[in-house]
Formats: sequence, structure tokens, C-alpha cells
Amino acid sequence: MSDDNQKNWKPATKLVRGGTMRSQFGETSEAIFLTSGYAYDSAEQAAARMRGDEEGYVYSRYGNPTNQMLADRLTLLEGAETCRVTASGMAAISSAIIAPCSAGDRVVAATALFGSCRHICSTILPRYGVETEFVDGGDLQAWTQALSKPTRLVLIESPSNPLLDAVDIAAIADLAHSAGALLVVDNVFATPILQLPLELGADIVVYSATKHMDGQGRVMSGAILGQSNFIEEHIDPWLRHTGPAASPFNSWIVLKGLETLDLRVREASRNAVRIADAIAAHPNVQAVRYPGRADHPDFAIHQKQMSMGGSLIAFSIKGAMPEPTSAGNAPAAFTFLNALRLVDISNNLGDTKSLACHPSTTTHRALSAEEQAEMGLDESWVRLSVGLEDASDLVDDLNQALSAV
Ligand SMILES: *Cc1c(COP(=O)(O)O)cnc(C)c1O
Repeated sequence: MSDDNQKNWKPATKLVRGGTMRSQFGETSEAIFLTSGYAYDSAEQAAARMRGDEEGYVYSRYGNPTNQMLADRLTLLEGAETCRVTASGMAAISSAIIAPCSAGDRVVAATALFGSCRHICSTILPRYGVETEFVDGGDLQAWTQALSKPTRLVLIESPSNPLLDAVDIAAIADLAHSAGALLVVDNVFATPILQLPLELGADIVVYSATKHMDGQGRVMSGAILGQSNFIEEHIDPWLRHTGPAASPFNSWIVLKGLETLDLRVREASRNAVRIADAIAAHPNVQAVRYPGRADHPDFAIHQKQMSMGGSLIAFSIKGAMPEPTSAGNAPAAFTFLNALRLVDISNNLGDTKSLACHPSTTTHRALSAEEQAEMGLDESWVRLSVGLEDASDLVDDLNQALSAV
């Protein structure tokens, strides 16, 4: 548990030392407590722990020292009151959305969301009697109207997947609060290095730590951050009894990843600036969406809430076929992806390795063509997660693949 002095540390110090808890052996690297259970000194102690009268671990579905070190480090980094870590990003996000809702409640979400987040809102919540409404994330009038009725929870993502649209977090926080709703922000694309939603008025921040926090493509992990009273009342009972518990080994990997998070995110962002400019200059590219470029339609909002452009770029390739790929007409984007030699084709992101994917046939394939069009997505778009290779090698690879189209 973090003492007050740790709160005053600068982010780089928090990332390396925050939450570290040494055992009696004085290890410099955090220990991995691979244990499911805990032994007690006496039957009285077991009873007191179970009653909650004595601090301490009882079972790793409830809590584990390595998981706690990760939660404490993330709490400090985000400036939150508390944090719970989970088995994956979706374990965190589904818990944060479902746990506070009851039948009859209403949820409002932005249209442009990570595919599984959208599925929870469009398909799972309504089956349990929770009404959901989708709003174009950039349309403040639509938000005002949707939030004119009492609402339990609002879910947004900024920058959003896959076209990196901005949602004005502070503006939506005000509207959500006047509707009595909690604002949940999926901050995966921005990372806590570039954007802090709680400072902008959000109530809950959720992460897939699988992405930049591990950052080296190794483990699944997730986190929920917010106020202690909310987490204790709604999230703790849900996590304890439904069981999306984090693996202590995975939490340890993420703890190690966090030590270099600031360096990696900033360097990948610097690479992304160069790459976005190079892609935009290629004759086979018809549009580039990068939060750090002035030609992004939401540039002003991104500038207001993000300190750098981040590591993700979306771009649209000329000559994409309008017919569905199942008809045998591969879009130009496929030709591009298949011509890449250095960048991998992968739907993962936030890795040290640069990864590219075709959202409309992979990450967003569950959406109909109309739903994709609503978010501005079609088969011409590629999403690129920029890694830590030398930017000039990446530019060379992207240019040769674009020229192959
Ligand atoms: C990856 C991702 C998730 C889901 O996280 P997992 O760790 O894959 O479960 C949620 N939201 C966003 C924006 C993501 O990129």
C-alpha cells in the first residue's frame, strides 16, 4: 500500500519504485508470489482475516501480494484512489461496466469502441435488462440529448479504435454527471503517460495492460482505477465472486514493463510522428489519421487532453475495392499488408514490434458494413501500431509496401 511520500514522486520514479513491497530477503526486483492460498498462525487469525477484522491475504482470487504491487504502482501513476488488477483488459472493462448496473438501468456509449466493449453494450447488457444507447463520440448535441435522461454509466474511449477519433473527456464528464452517470474511460490507446482521464473528470479508468504496459507482447492483464468507495461497493464483490483474477506471474511481467513505460511510449510516439508524415506523403494514401497531426479532424480535442500523439496511426489506401472480400476481391489494403517485410500483420497493439492490421475484416469484422460506415470505417483503412524499431527502417518498409499497391 502506497504511503503519502510515494504520491509526491514524479511519474518516472513511480513507474520504477511505486508499490514495491520487499520480503524479508530484500530482493531488488519485485517477488512473484505464485500462491493461491495463505496459511494462518491460528484458527482465530483465520477467522479474523475472513471477517475482515485483520488485514492480510486469504485467497488469490481476493488478493495477492504481486497483484497488489501492480495495483499500487498503477494507483500512483494514475493519481487514483485505488486500483484492482484483472486477468485481461476485457475482464477489467466488463467488470467495470456490468458490476454497477442492474436491470432497468441505462448505459450510454460512444459508437467507436473496441469490438468486445461494443459487444457487451450492444448484446450482453440488453439481455439482462440494461438499456444501451450509442452516440457518435464527437457529437456533443447527441451526447446532450442522450444524457438528458437518468443514466447509470457512460463508456468512452479516446483516441478510439480504429480511426483515433477524440472524445472530449471533460465535456462528457460534465454531461454524464448531470445525468447521474459514472464516466468510464478506456484509456488504452493514450496510456497514463499521455492522458489522465481522472484529472479531466472521469470517474473510472480501465486498461488492457496487455498493450503498452506489458508492451512486449507477452501477457494478458487489465486494471480498473477509481474511487475507493465505488471500487469497494461494486467492483470488489464482483471480482471476488465471478473470478476474473489476475495471474501473479502476469502482474510481475507488467510491473517490469511499467519500469520502461514512459521511455517506450514517448519513443514510439516520436517514431509515429515521423511515420505518419511519411505515410501522408505517399501518393497511394488518401487519408491519414494521427492524433498528433494538425489535419486530424479532432486535433484540437486531442491537443487539449493528450500530451503527445501516441503510437497508433490509421490510414486509408487508395484503390480499395468496395466489394466485400468474401466475393474474392481483396482490398488494396491486403496487398499493402502482404507486402510488408518488417512490420508484422497482427491485431495486437502497443508492442515494441510495429504491427499492422485491417480493422474492417479483423478487429471490427463483427460490425455490419452500415455500423462500420457510421464510424467512418471501410475496407481502405489500415491501423498501424508503431513500435521501437528505427523509424527510418519502418518508413522504408511502409513506403515499399505502399508502392506495391
Ligand atoms: C486490447 C484492448 C482491450 C481489451 O483488452 P484485452 O487485454 O485484450 O482483454 C480493450 N480496449 C482497448 C482499447 C484495447 O485496445
